[in-house]
Amino acid sequence: MSGGLDVAVLTAWLGRVAVRYAAEQGYLCDLDAAIGDGDHGANLARGFTAVVAKLGQPASPAALFKSVGMTLIGTVGGASGPLYGTLFIDMGKAAGESTTLDAASWAKVLAAGLAGVAARGKAQPGDKTMIDALTPAVQALQGETDLTAALTASAAAAVHGAEATKKLIAHKGRASYLGERAIGHQDPGATSLAMLLQGLASEAG
Ligand SMILES: [Mg+2]
Repeated sequence: MSGGLDVAVLTAWLGRVAVRYAAEQGYLCDLDAAIGDGDHGANLARGFTAVVAKLGQPASPAALFKSVGMTLIGTVGGASGPLYGTLFIDMGKAAGESTTLDAASWAKVLAAGLAGVAARGKAQPGDKTMIDALTPAVQALQGETDLTAALTASAAAAVHGAEATKKLIAHKGRASYLGERAIGHQDPGATSLAMLLQGLASEAG
């Protein structure tokens, strides 16, 4: 593994994620159509295309995360824009002056993003949201000093968390109106969050 998560690696990650969301936008929209309004994949594909177009050459991981967050808030509609935007903006605040994030600092940064999303969305684990992928992803980073192992474990935990949302009733958003009819459907936000972290593991793992 390289020396850690620097601007070059993080920029490459965002490009990879933009390609993945574009490729999977039909799948993510189908997940959303089952329990929501069916726009999640299109929103994220549009948002990350804009992220890549507007990113430029940020001076630090903190500046990069802030730019991503602002772009997502401005371009992704619905509930996901503010939530994904908050994730990145709060990650940027936690990244501080660092030029390169190691496993420990990435754990701190992602935990700050989780805290921001939870506060913004007033959601907790078990509510059938992106929190259900993000929480185990953060937990998997704890105590892991090898960046490759950390990112791989974190992405796997996120995927598992997203799959586990199938058995949950939703407590947030439109899906909450469905009651038990939401059971059996995987949450689109948890799914896209897992894709985000899979992309980082692929890029830097
Ligand atoms: Mg939607």
